[in-house]
Amino acid sequence: MEMTRERSQIKRHPERSVPAEAPEILAQGLVAHVGFCRDEQPFVLPFSYHYDPAKPNKLYLHGARASRALRHISSGAAVCVSVTLLDGLVYSRSAKFHSMNYRSVVLFGTARIVSEESEKAMLFEKMIARYFIGRKAGQDYEPAPSEHLSSTELVEVTIEELNAKARRGGPKGPHDADPDALGTCGVLLRDGEFGR
Ligand SMILES: Cc1cc2nc3c(=O)[nH]c(=O)nc-3n(C[C@H](O)[C@H](O)[C@H](O)COP(=O)(O)OP(=O)(O)OC[C@H]3O[C@@H](n4cnc5c(N)ncnc54)[C@H](O)[C@@H]3O)c2cc1C
Repeated sequence: MEMTRERSQIKRHPERSVPAEAPEILAQGLVAHVGFCRDEQPFVLPFSYHYDPAKPNKLYLHGARASRALRHISSGAAVCVSVTLLDGLVYSRSAKFHSMNYRSVVLFGTARIVSEESEKAMLFEKMIARYFIGRKAGQDYEPAPSEHLSSTELVEVTIEELNAKARRGGPKGPHDADPDALGTCGVLLRDGEFGR
């Protein structure tokens, strides 16, 4: 998916730009930080979300009808969403070169409310199966009744532009390749989280 334009061009460490990995990162992520401006005040709020690489330019948020954030962004306001996968903590023999291994996406878009009930039901079932792999409506839980669907807002973000960035590998300090230098270095891995 190539949707990178000027606004999403990575200037710092451009070699870490991995836009082709964006669908996989969004499909694996669990928390989306959703940014928007209201009356010149920026807000960034955490949300669960749904993303399916088969529909690479759509990301879904949901919440209570009363959610001020969802109401605001679905009124056509510009929205910026960030998703991060933390892959490791990198420690170096030099203070400055402590770092993190990560894969992250920043995307820009606009949102609308999805009001069609069957579309909402299908989306929520897919979202549950994304977080709780293999969990099925009618087998593992009761399908959402109409009153639950109507009291829950579903918001579809159309992704207009995005980029992904990744840092991989060990510490890059000037003494990290020298086993006789002072201190220790390495990477604390964070894998197998929630069986993913
Ligand atoms: C991991 C995670 C997943 C979440 N998933 C969802 C989701 O899928 N759907 C959903 O509706 N909500 C979710 N939330 C809660 C969400 O972050 C908002 O609190 C909620 O949507 C209410 O939004 P609002 O605009 O009505 O908040 P308001 O209550 O109107 O916000 C008023 C102010 O309260 C503060 N505030 C709001 N939320 C938070 C917060 N989470 N942490 C600290 N301060 C806050 C901010 O300063 C904000 O400006 C999630 C939170 C977390 C941490």
